[in-house]
Amino acid sequence: MQEKEQLLTLFVDNAPAAIAMFDREMRYLAVSRRLLEEFHLAKEELIGRSFYEAFPDMPEYWKEAHRRVLAGETVRCKEEKYIQPNGKVEWIQWEKRPWFFRGEVGGMLIFIEIITERKEAEEGMRLAEMVYQGSSEAMMVTDENNNIISVNPAFEQITGYKAEEVIGKDPHILKSGKHGPDFYQAMWKSINEAGKWEGEVWNRTKDGMEFSILTKINTSFTADGRVFRRVALFSDITEKKKSDELIWQQANFDTLTGLPNRRLFRDRLNHEIRNARRTRLPLALMFLDLDGFKDINDTLGHDMGDLLLKETAERLKSCLREIDIVARLGGDEFTIILSELHDIGRVDRIARHILQQISRPFKLGEEMAHISASIGITLYPQDALEMENLLKNADQAMYSAKQEGKNRYNFYTRDMQELAMYRMRLINDLRDALGEGQIEIVYQPIVEMKTGCISKAEALIRWQHPTRGLINPNDFISAAEETGLITSLGDWIMQEAVNQAAKWRVQYHLQFQISVNVSPVQFRNDNINFTTWSNYLEKAGLSGDAIVIEITEGLLLEASDKIKEQLLIFRDKGIEVALDDFGTGYSALSYLQKFDIDYLKIDQVFVRNVAPGSTDMALCEAIIEMAHKLNIKVIAEGVETEEQRSLLAGAGCDFMQGYLFSKPLPADRLDDLLSKGVGLTPLQ
Ligand code: C2E
Ligand code: CA
Ligand code: CA
Repeated sequence: MQEKEQLLTLFVDNAPAAIAMFDREMRYLAVSRRLLEEFHLAKEELIGRSFYEAFPDMPEYWKEAHRRVLAGETVRCKEEKYIQPNGKVEWIQWEKRPWFFRGEVGGMLIFIEIITERKEAEEGMRLAEMVYQGSSEAMMVTDENNNIISVNPAFEQITGYKAEEVIGKDPHILKSGKHGPDFYQAMWKSINEAGKWEGEVWNRTKDGMEFSILTKINTSFTADGRVFRRVALFSDITEKKKSDELIWQQANFDTLTGLPNRRLFRDRLNHEIRNARRTRLPLALMFLDLDGFKDINDTLGHDMGDLLLKETAERLKSCLREIDIVARLGGDEFTIILSELHDIGRVDRIARHILQQISRPFKLGEEMAHISASIGITLYPQDALEMENLLKNADQAMYSAKQEGKNRYNFYTRDMQELAMYRMRLINDLRDALGEGQIEIVYQPIVEMKTGCISKAEALIRWQHPTRGLINPNDFISAAEETGLITSLGDWIMQEAVNQAAKWRVQYHLQFQISVNVSPVQFRNDNINFTTWSNYLEKAGLSGDAIVIEITEGLLLEASDKIKEQLLIFRDKGIEVALDDFGTGYSALSYLQKFDIDYLKIDQVFVRNVAPGSTDMALCEAIIEMAHKLNIKVIAEGVETEEQRSLLAGAGCDFMQGYLFSKPLPADRLDDLLSKGVGLTPLQ
């Protein structure tokens, strides 16, 4: 019996598994060495002790399992996390079953297996499978005979083949025919020698579409070094190529018109200049700017503005050869490169053609819009050799085309260069002009027809330049506007005008008014503070009606709420508003109605040609009649002759201004006139 027991213990000790045997009280009877080794336990710690003493933190379900085992059941656990005394996490699997002695449960046998490695391998497999199935990269597995044994869903998607259509087949079904036999030979050489290959392959989908694919082939070998599987991984670079293209597109092309943008344009110009140097054929660079585009944008909205730009791009392209380059620099600025000019005369013809095309009406939604363009042209190598200079030239030429009345093209000339320099210096000088007392105001009388009296005067600015002499406002107002100097200049003029009005109201006439020109830029400027103007009035003890503000039609076209608000403020203060240069701009009646306008000034160009039966006479009559219907008084500008005066007076014109009555005069000279009580008599 004792021997039998010893044999039994020996068997348990040496069993090639981790086993332990317990009695009914769950005391250890025997443990295999394998168990002690694998779980880092010592036999002395266990034998004679109870399982519960050895593992005080035993989970509840173990105890439950033990109860069931002692009742005769077998309990298995397929996997369970187990933490070794050294902290290592293992996965175990166990089985606990009763052992019987004389038909009774004598205790429990436990069999434990560490399955960490297997579990990790399984997990790895599961992960690999997940990647394989879910990857956006196509994968294909072939066997040692190069037959496809598996493909993943991405493969099906990219190639158009279903798995069942390709399994068992040779991968050459994907061949596009774009590569020669050499290509495949080299590929196989590498696969056979190194077990792998990587490169770009053109393949063909099921329905014949060719696609470029980055392919990686790897081999997995059997333990004895034979080919087991080959795995091919395809990354579809057609997509990547497309997105590369998209990025390139976005970086170099204007999204609205699809034309090259500024960046690409500069690249191309650089390239064309080098080309011209080589071929010794001239090239022309054109700058094109649309005239009045802003107004279209403001009145019809940005969507329509965009439409117009798109259409402009199309029209420009239609005027050019394939090899010529049109680009959009931004806004309504386009540029054109005409290269390899065998015949310089072509530049003229193209410029004319472009102007003609742009002046055709544009259909924008329901509206028809008319627009024109100003073009500046410079030639390489005649005008300049360097890119930057060519750009500057074309810009100057374009600017001069604008200055000369728009809807035209100008070639760059050296005079332009000088003019540009002159402008730059002028702007510089203008910064100091006000502080140094070079700016003066002259006043031009405005005569009321009903009474024949001078009842108003227009304040006009003059610049006494220390070296250049008298400079007319037309030559520097635009510069003042561009630089923002107009704001401080305008404030100063208002202050002067208010003070002058105060004097004349006291000395001469209590209703006397001075009209002051206000630039649209002053309205747009956010810093403008019209309240300072009412402060001037208050300080001078004047009511608002001492001042008339002259604005232009363009300002009303902007029709922004801000401008409306400002005009309302004037209204509240009693300041009157005159619409200057009427007839030269848009002359939209709807605007006159929308805004509270007190006076309308008929531009000199109409007055100049007033003669009995002339179109301009009819126009003036129509304007006057219409204005009166809207309760607006009319001032005729630039009245120079007695005939003009009598015709316009006959048409019902309310006020007149012009050399016939008086040129603009310094304040003291006008003082003399006023005190003499001069009315309608022409002045020398
Ligand atoms: P505008 O407001 O249309 O002013 C009338 C212009 O016509 C003045 O030119 C005036 O001298 C001129 N003129 C008056 N009567 C006659 C005439 O019988 N025949 C001819 N041929 N011309 C006549 P000026 O003073 O050279 O001013 C030119 C423009 O400069 C003005 O046109 C106005 O737009 C602008 N300007 C003048 N002063 C100011 C100012 O203080 N602020 C602003 N923002 N603009 C001003
Ligand atoms: Ca004016
Ligand atoms: Ca005017």
